[in-house]
Amino acid sequence: MPIAIAIDGPAGAGKSTIARACAKRLSYIYVDTGALYRAIGLAAMRNNIEPIESPQVDELLSQIKVELSFNENNEQTVLLNGEDVSGLIRTPEASMTASRISAVPSVRAYLLDLQRSIAKHNNVIMDGRDIGTVILPDAQVKIFLTASPQERAKRRYNELVQKGAEVTYNDVLDDVIKRDYQDSHREIAPLKPAKDSVLVDTTELDFEQSVSKILSVIKEKL
Ligand code: C5P
Repeated sequence: MPIAIAIDGPAGAGKSTIARACAKRLSYIYVDTGALYRAIGLAAMRNNIEPIESPQVDELLSQIKVELSFNENNEQTVLLNGEDVSGLIRTPEASMTASRISAVPSVRAYLLDLQRSIAKHNNVIMDGRDIGTVILPDAQVKIFLTASPQERAKRRYNELVQKGAEVTYNDVLDDVIKRDYQDSHREIAPLKPAKDSVLVDTTELDFEQSVSKILSVIKEKL
């Protein structure tokens, strides 16, 4: 049976960079499930559809195809109707739309099998909000990765500025707090630690220390 490592936690805790580095060291596939919700959010934005439970969103789901592909270096690309949208989904607007549309039950149902089927055939580190609780409840290792909202906003702000985005720290902090609230208060698959998860707080850890910590948790559990 393939090995599954679930890493859940709030936005900006460093899940994607840390999980990607760990996957590389272990030669596992790293699956960033947030990209799937972002791609559906982008499709809604392009079609001027409100990202809330509605017949329009259900109709949209019946018309689009969202896929993940992995190259020889196990790097992920997200495709929306065959178009590589990996870059387009990384804007603050796309983040907020993804967070809103991810609360729609039909959206979560639409993405369930896709996520499970990747884990069925590969050793994976999968990051998201509900991987340990809903998508892969039998994952051999479950980690809940977090950091203070201020530290997470600082990291996200630096990342966005590096990409040339014009944002202020306070706007980013507001977004982080709003997304945390939305993600943890929705009725379906809310963000919360799985009962059998290991909590890792990276507020005081730099990148290398975070990677070492996660790798040591994985080693201990496997
Ligand atoms: O992880 P990322 O910030 O890219 O995710 C974007 C949004 O998608 C999150 O704010 C969250 O609402 C949603 N999401 C989710 N379940 C996942 C991954 C992401 O609800 N497994």
